[in-house]
Amino acid sequence: MLLIKRNRDLILVISAFLGTTPLQNPVHAGEKTIIAHRGASGYVPEHTLEAVAMAHAFGADFIEQDVVLSKDHVPVVLHDIDLEPVTDVATKFPIRKRADGKYYAIDFTLAELKSLNVHERVDPKSGNAFLTNRFPAKSGQFQIPTLEEELQLIQGMNHSRQKSIGIYPEIKSPGFHRNAGVDISKIVLEVLKKYGYSTKQDLCIVQCFDWSELKQIRKLGYQGRLVFLMGGRRMKLDETSEPVDFNETTMREIAKVADGIGPALQLVADQKYKPTNLVADAHKAGLIVHPYTIRTDMKRPGDTNPANMFKVILDDAGADGVFTDQPDAGVNWKNSRTK
Ligand code: CA
Repeated sequence: MLLIKRNRDLILVISAFLGTTPLQNPVHAGEKTIIAHRGASGYVPEHTLEAVAMAHAFGADFIEQDVVLSKDHVPVVLHDIDLEPVTDVATKFPIRKRADGKYYAIDFTLAELKSLNVHERVDPKSGNAFLTNRFPAKSGQFQIPTLEEELQLIQGMNHSRQKSIGIYPEIKSPGFHRNAGVDISKIVLEVLKKYGYSTKQDLCIVQCFDWSELKQIRKLGYQGRLVFLMGGRRMKLDETSEPVDFNETTMREIAKVADGIGPALQLVADQKYKPTNLVADAHKAGLIVHPYTIRTDMKRPGDTNPANMFKVILDDAGADGVFTDQPDAGVNWKNSRTK
């Protein structure tokens, strides 16, 4: 045990000397990283401060924030650029929808966004919850938090609970925001800097699906960790190129900008739970791999125990961490594994 601790200390010393740190929280060095997806969203409406507090109490290593901007350009924590799947916007502001029938956060001031009630995710057409075993869709009083409010809560609990739980903000739809005349990355990075997140030593990983935006984030001078989110097996590395396969060569291109990738689960393990070569290719290029999203209340075909996915993704496929709606299940799996 002492030897293991010494080795970890040694890794931290060497990493500090090299100007890098292991990609997990220092207190969890060498362990798998459990990322609370939209907070403890399996139990409390996603991205509410209540869901954040619960994820913190569960002992997740990182807590995720999806970030969009209000009309007055305040970063708020919300998964979509439109409001109707998780709020009562259609009732409170019925005439504010656009021609496509959607209510966009960027059309509402922060004060207006704060007047909305947040609820469990529903299909806006039917009003029915997507997952009926979760928090009842039509009950509870919750608000959209600003990014700052959420960082204050996490840092406050890190202090009072003597923890070092990290943040994992995602820049949402940078092109949409640019079309609205605003640079979301620039605004979010300023908030992160204000709260002490600007280097690879800080417990913050910024994620984005948009490859050109990740490069832009580096041009803006951000030196912290970046994760490139991947929804499919192929991508364009620039606007004019043809889509390329993800393999060791393209992973090395990604590694020039990003520290890791965030692939969909099915890119890491197939429907029969057989690992693909994605994690190995990423690791050869020095990238960490944090797939999304394990939901223990959503069974895949043939699933007997969805919590087995933690073993499939983290042990069998060898990913470094995983996003999950049930961070307690991830932490429990990790604790039972290390006993
Ligand atoms: Ca996200």
